[in-house]
Amino acid sequence: MFDVVALGELLIDFTPAGKSANGNTLFETNPGGAPANVLATLAKFNARTAFIGKVGTDQFGSFLGDTLQKGKIDTQGLVYSKDVNTTLAFVHLKEDGDRSFQFYRSPGADIMLDEQEVDIALVQNAKVFHFGSLSMTHEPAKTATLKAVKAAQEKDVLVSYDPNLRPALWGSLSHAKETIIEGLQYADILKISEEELEFITDIRNLEEGSQFLFEKFGLKVVLITLGSKGCFYRFGKDTGHINGFQVNAIDTTGAGDLFLGAFLYQFIKKEVSWDLVQAHDVEKMILFANATAALGTTKKGAIPAIPHLNDVNELIDGRT
Ligand code: ATP
Repeated sequence: MFDVVALGELLIDFTPAGKSANGNTLFETNPGGAPANVLATLAKFNARTAFIGKVGTDQFGSFLGDTLQKGKIDTQGLVYSKDVNTTLAFVHLKEDGDRSFQFYRSPGADIMLDEQEVDIALVQNAKVFHFGSLSMTHEPAKTATLKAVKAAQEKDVLVSYDPNLRPALWGSLSHAKETIIEGLQYADILKISEEELEFITDIRNLEEGSQFLFEKFGLKVVLITLGSKGCFYRFGKDTGHINGFQVNAIDTTGAGDLFLGAFLYQFIKKEVSWDLVQAHDVEKMILFANATAALGTTKKGAIPAIPHLNDVNELIDGRT
């Protein structure tokens, strides 16, 4: 049995790595894909994790499979395809450490995952099932994703959802909104950014937007990440803002994924059902998630930047 099983995109992030002698930008191959980043964070803290997705039988696909295995993430659900290439994405960093993405999917292997290839037993035996919205931009991966999430719900597996908005990957913004909302019906734990909150609800106010989502979709907790400012949460009638940690951020790639992986780790570590979780537990879980993600921004890439548990605890001890 696994603590957390995730399904979704697994790809190469080409991250800027300085300039060549003639002044051209150099890119470094980093493993990427939000669901895998979430699992890698959990696995680094020793939680039992498994990944479901598709890559090509090319060098990039082998690199990604090896990366998951080295990170102690089970790969029995990872499908290698001869028919499609591993998906590639280029990351462009802005001066403040924020970034934009350009995806190369024509189509990429990630969106070619077929429902027949999803190991339902893997999903139904997990404590938490995690998914995002990028595996729902195209078929057949959308049907595969929804099959997995419905199977999780059927067996009362807690469902975590991060509807990452990447406008360039969708046919249109209305398609993105409709599909992101479709995924919300199955979610228990929702992690979104302020921008995504407004996109989904047309509400800017965190109290009101989170209440709308909480009630409409029967969520168990809403986590709204606020970059360096930390996180706003709604847990039933309880809401609060947990401040972020001040660090020297150089690359925020995957900060949201490290945040969510760390949050889920704290839940797994409690070894209780979600019904026993209280508002003060949620606050501690967010504090830990803020610290993990903050440390993650001080290094390049997502998976290579996941901090050691000791360093996270040290950062928290320094504040309290
Ligand atoms: P993604 O785009 O990766 O899905 P996101 O939009 O959810 O991410 P952010 O809100 O930027 O991500 O960051 C997630 C978390 O990472 C924040 O809640 C915070 O804890 C931490 N974080 C992000 N940027 C910084 C920063 N500059 N300094 C400290 N902590 C940060």
